[in-house]
Amino acid sequence: MFGLFRRKTPDAVPDIDIGGRQVAVAVVRNARARRISLRADAVHGVVRLTLPPRAPIREGLALLDAQRGWIAARVTSWPRPQPFVPGARIPFEGGEMLLDWHEDHPRGVRRMDTVLRVGGPLSTLSGRTTRWLRAQALDRLEPETRALAAAAGKSVSAVSVRDPASRWGSCSSTGVITYSWRLILAPAWIRQSVVAHEVAHLVHHNHGPDFWALARSLADVDPGTSRRWLTAHGAALHWVGRTSGGQA
Ligand SMILES: [Zn+2]
Repeated sequence: MFGLFRRKTPDAVPDIDIGGRQVAVAVVRNARARRISLRADAVHGVVRLTLPPRAPIREGLALLDAQRGWIAARVTSWPRPQPFVPGARIPFEGGEMLLDWHEDHPRGVRRMDTVLRVGGPLSTLSGRTTRWLRAQALDRLEPETRALAAAAGKSVSAVSVRDPASRWGSCSSTGVITYSWRLILAPAWIRQSVVAHEVAHLVHHNHGPDFWALARSLADVDPGTSRRWLTAHGAALHWVGRTSGGQA
């Protein structure tokens, strides 16, 4: 984010109601913005209203009003939150697991094929399920990354998982590769193509023809195919484990 203009009183805009769905509006004052603009953020579930530093907020509100139809069309296509509640179905490596919670189940999280059994207090169910999924993601991603790096004649300094909003993986110049833990929610071939992409960056720090040739040779699927899958389904993965519609 560039040059946020800080004000003493932040611009507050009430949520908008789209067919019973409450959608938060995040107001962004951007010193580089030349005009007022709107963006419907399908990953976070918020509408972002960007204004130049001195534009009156009422002009932003007028744009929100004028673009209500456009906003409604976008919001209707957003994924729905998929909270980790008892009976939830969790996407996992291209399949689904049923979240089977009972207080009297053994404590801890245990996967039995298509059932994820969790015991202990209900209040800790969501947090423990998330931590289990993150650990599963790292369990797969770390060896897969090291194996492909070895195949490319490179070594990896470290592999870690986080929850970034816009990137599925990143590779630093020091050889640290970081992934979104949410890749465990996608089919394995998607995850493996992201691994091939990041490992190829250990060799080429750009997206030139040599980079793509290596990325293709390391993966079983065409990068274009996996990019299309992530474009179509990636936003929904960000709503898994979320209890409500929006987070700025
Ligand atoms: Zn890249």
